[in-house]
Amino acid sequence: MSNQSKKCSGCLLEKGLSDFRFCKTKQRLVYKCRECEREYARNRRKTHPEAVKAAYRKWHNSNKEENAKRRRVVYYEKRDLMLERMRLYRKENPDVMKSSDERWRKNNPDKVRAMKNAGWHRRRSKELEKPVIWSIKIKKEILSFWGEKCVYCNGKYEHMDHYIPISWDNNPGTVPWNMVPACQHCNLTKNDKDPYMFINDLHTISKIESGLWDFKEKYGHNYSCK
Ligand SMILES: [Zn+2]
Ligand SMILES: [Zn+2]
Repeated sequence: MSNQSKKCSGCLLEKGLSDFRFCKTKQRLVYKCRECEREYARNRRKTHPEAVKAAYRKWHNSNKEENAKRRRVVYYEKRDLMLERMRLYRKENPDVMKSSDERWRKNNPDKVRAMKNAGWHRRRSKELEKPVIWSIKIKKEILSFWGEKCVYCNGKYEHMDHYIPISWDNNPGTVPWNMVPACQHCNLTKNDKDPYMFINDLHTISKIESGLWDFKEKYGHNYSCK
C-alpha cells in the first residue's frame, strides 16, 4: 500500500485515498471503497429493509436537532428543486398522497381548521375585490400581539374581525393592519358598524389603532394603496 492509494477489500482495486471514507470512531480509513460501501448499502436495503429502517430511525432520533438544521440548509439551497420534485411525486402517486393527506388531516384538526379559516378569509376578500395579505402565520402573530383577547372588551378571542368593515368601499381589506381579535359577541354586535360608533372610549380606539399602525409599518411597505 502506497501513501497515495489503497487497495479496497471489496472490489480488490487499488484506489486513491479520497475514495475511502474516514471512520471517526476508529480514527482510520475504512477497508472498502465508497463505491463498494454504496453497493453494500443498496444490497442491505433490499435484503434487510426493516433492519435498515430501524437503524435509520435510531440514528435520526439521536441526531434530531443536527438533522433538522441540515435539512433547513439543504431546503433553502435547493428549495425550487425540492418543490418541483415534491410536485412530481404528488402527481405520480395520487393514492399515496391522498391517504397521507388524510392521515395528516386527522392528526392535525386545529391546523386544518386554521387553514380552512384563512382560505375562507382570502376567498371572501378576493370576491369583494379587496387586498389580501393573510396567512396562519400572520394570524398567530396578531393573536399573540393582542394576548389572544378581544380588542374591544378584553374578553376571550373567538373571531378575527375587520376593524374597518370589509363591506365598506374604502376598507383596506384582509390585511394585518385591518385585522383584530374579537369575541363572538363584539364581532356580531359591531358587524359593519363604524368602529368609532361601536367603541365609545378613546383609550380603546387609540390602543387598537396604534397596534394596527405597527402592523402597517411591518407589512405595508410592499403594498401600494389604490
Ligand atoms: Zn471497492
Ligand atoms: Zn369582545
